[in-house]
Amino acid sequence: MLPYPGGVTTPPFPAPTTAELAVVSAQLGRPARGVVGVAARCACGNPTVVATSPRLADGTPFPTFYYLTHPAATAAMSTLEAAHVMPELAARLADDEDVAAAYVTAHEVYLADRAQFGEVPEIDGISAGGMPTRVKCLHALAGHALAAGAGVNPIGDEALVRSAWSPDVCRCVDPGAALREDEASSA
Ligand SMILES: [Zn+2]
Repeated sequence: MLPYPGGVTTPPFPAPTTAELAVVSAQLGRPARGVVGVAARCACGNPTVVATSPRLADGTPFPTFYYLTHPAATAAMSTLEAAHVMPELAARLADDEDVAAAYVTAHEVYLADRAQFGEVPEIDGISAGGMPTRVKCLHALAGHALAAGAGVNPIGDEALVRSAWSPDVCRCVDPGAALREDEASSA
């Protein structure tokens, strides 16, 4: 059973387990850095989005609090970007006051979630993905939408709707690997 029914996983987060960090490192192809929690999951329980400390251990400021890690998800967002979906979504922000207002709120929520893990002056007021007024990175916006659940980030929601990838259909290399250690230790 998933720790977070419905996948809605804004802070506070339980500390990531060794198994979760191993899956994230495998997804990224490098050691996971600064992970403070798993913010969204695949149907199998593996992470799709991690929450990352706004300041990494080496001191580097890190604005992208909700970081999309799942290779199939990141590939799907790259496909949308290559298909020039971003200018379309930017036009929606320009044309629809309600969407624009929701996007500003999404920016504020994003900053509030991140602030629970420390204030970092270098990135004060800077969220991710182009928020609050631009559309610059669908990976970051989809990551936020997955973590916050539908209805928080309208552009991230739309990117996920238009994507060929869904967290409901597992495409993991090693399904459920992130939860395996926990099951073993609690058995
Ligand atoms: Zn999976």
